[in-house]
Amino acid sequence: MTTTVAPRDAARSQDDPVQAFCGELRRFLAVRVDSARIDAEHALPAGLLTELAELGVFGVSIPEAWGGSELGLSGACAVVESLARYDRAVATTVGLHLGLGTRGLVAFADDAQRERWLPDLASGKRLGAFATTEPGAGSDLSRLATRARLDQATGRLRVDGQKIYVTNGGLAQTYTVAVSTEGLGGAASGQNLLVLERDDGLKIGAEEVKLGLRGSSTTSLYLDELDIPMDRVVGVPGAGHRDISQVLAFGRTAMAAGCNGTAWAAIDLATAHVAERKQFGKTLAAQPVIRLQLADMAASLFAMRAMVAATGDVEHDDAELERRSVAAKVYCSETDWTICDTSLQLHGGSGYIEETGAPLLLRDARITRIFEGANDVLASRMGALELIRPGGHATTGTEADEISLITHEVRTNWQARDGLKVLRDPVRLHKLGRLAILREVAVATVAYAGPHPSPRTAALRDHALSRLLQAAEAAARAVAPIATVDAIVDPLFDSGVA
Ligand SMILES: Cc1cc2nc3c(=O)[nH]c(=O)nc-3n(C[C@H](O)[C@H](O)[C@H](O)COP(=O)(O)OP(=O)(O)OC[C@H]3O[C@@H](n4cnc5c(N)ncnc54)[C@H](O)[C@@H]3O)c2cc1C
Repeated sequence: MTTTVAPRDAARSQDDPVQAFCGELRRFLAVRVDSARIDAEHALPAGLLTELAELGVFGVSIPEAWGGSELGLSGACAVVESLARYDRAVATTVGLHLGLGTRGLVAFADDAQRERWLPDLASGKRLGAFATTEPGAGSDLSRLATRARLDQATGRLRVDGQKIYVTNGGLAQTYTVAVSTEGLGGAASGQNLLVLERDDGLKIGAEEVKLGLRGSSTTSLYLDELDIPMDRVVGVPGAGHRDISQVLAFGRTAMAAGCNGTAWAAIDLATAHVAERKQFGKTLAAQPVIRLQLADMAASLFAMRAMVAATGDVEHDDAELERRSVAAKVYCSETDWTICDTSLQLHGGSGYIEETGAPLLLRDARITRIFEGANDVLASRMGALELIRPGGHATTGTEADEISLITHEVRTNWQARDGLKVLRDPVRLHKLGRLAILREVAVATVAYAGPHPSPRTAALRDHALSRLLQAAEAAARAVAPIATVDAIVDPLFDSGVA
C-alpha cells in the first residue's frame, strides 16, 4: 500500500534517532503484522512481543540508567503512532506499557524500586499494566474502593478490591495499581500507586470480548486481602493523588499518538481505494467533493500530529502537560474517528465489508473517545483549567488568534456576569473546554508548520486552521437550551421515548 501521509519530518529520518528507529520499526511491522488476523484470532501472534522487545520498543520511555533508551514522551508517541499505523491492538499493548504502565515507576518511584522493576520492563522481559478503573469508579477516580490499609502489627499493607478493564491484564507481570489508602503517611485517607507483581496473589479475570482492539488483553484484577510489603508504595505514602493525575496525562498523550497512527492507516486505505475506483467516467480521486474530503483528512492528521508534538514538548511541565494532554487526547480521538468514518464512506459499500480493513479501523478507534478519560469529562476539566489558568492570547497572525479571541471572550463574558459560579456550571465548563481544546490545537498547528513551511506544509496548516476556526465559531454559537432539558429528559425515565 502506498504511504501518502508520512510524518512531516520523515525526510530527516537519517539524522533523527527517533525517526530512524520508527522507520526501522515500520519496515518490520509491514511484513510481520497482519491486523485482520490479529482481530480474527483475538490475540497477538506468538513471538511478536519478543521480537518487538529485541527491537527495543519497550524501553523508549525509560531512562538509560534503568536500561531504556530515554526517548521521552515524544519518542514514545512516535513509536506508538508507528505501531498503530500497522495495528492498533499492538499499539495499545506497547503504548500502555510505555505510558501508564511504566510512568509511575519512572517518575515517582525511589531508586530501589526503579532498580528492581525498570530494567526488566525496559527490556520487555516484563510487560506493564495500570489499573485504576473499578466497578464503582470509572470517570470519578476520587472514589476508589480498592483499599490499602496499614496493618500496625506487621507494618505491612492489606490490599483488597477489584479492578476492571485492565489493558495488558492477562499478559503483564508488573501492575501499577491505584488505591485508596488508610493510615498511610499519617493521613486518615489518601491515594497511592502500588507496584504489584502477578505472583503477589493477583487473580486475573477472563479476557473481555470487545468491539475492537481484539488482540489487546483486557481483564479484571481481583485483589483479595493481599499481604503486601510497604516498599510497594510508589511516591509519598498517602499523598499519591497528584502522581496518578500526572501518570494519566503522560499516558493519554501516548494514546493520542496511537490515534494518529490509525488515522494515517485510514487515509492510506482511502487514498489507495479512490485512486483505483472509477465512477461517472473517472476515478473517485478525480471527483472534487472527494478531493476536498481527502484534504480535510490529511490536514486534520497534520493538526493531530502537531498537538501530540506540542504535548511531548512539555513533558516536564506538569500544568502545561495536563492542559495539552487533554487537548491531544480529545482532539486526536475524535478526529481519528471522523477520519476512519470518512475512509469507510469513500469505500462505498465495500467499506462495510470487513475484508477491506475499513471496519476494523473504525472498530478499533471507537474506544479511544472513552478510555484514558471519557472525552466529555476531559472537556469539562479543560473548561475548569481555562477558568483557573486561562491560556494565553495567540499572536500568530493566523486563524489561531481568532480562535484564541473567541475563547477569551466567552470566558470573560461569563466571568463578568457570573464570577466563580461558572465553575459550578458543567454545561458551560464543557463548552469553554471545547473552545480551549480547539485553540490549543490551532496554536500547535502553527508551531508545527514552522516559520518557513514548504508549500505543501503551508497548505496543510492553512486548511487545518480554517477547519478549526469553523469548529470554534460553531462551538461558540451553540446555545444549550437548558430550560427544555428537564421537560424532555425526566419523562424518558418514566415512559421512554414513546
Ligand atoms: C478496552 C478498554 C481498555 C481499558 N483499559 C484500562 C486500563 O488499562 N486501566 C484502567 O484503569 N482502565 C481502563 N479502562 C477503563 C476506562 O478508562 C473507563 O472505561 C473510562 O475511564 C470510563 O469510565 P466508565 O467506563 O466507568 O464510564 P462512566 O464513568 O460510567 O461514564 C460513562 C459515560 O458517561 C459520560 N460521563 C460520565 N461522567 C460525565 C460527566 N461528569 N460529564 C459528562 N459526561 C460524563 C461519558 O460519556 C462516559 O463515557 C479500559 C476500558 C476499556 C473498554
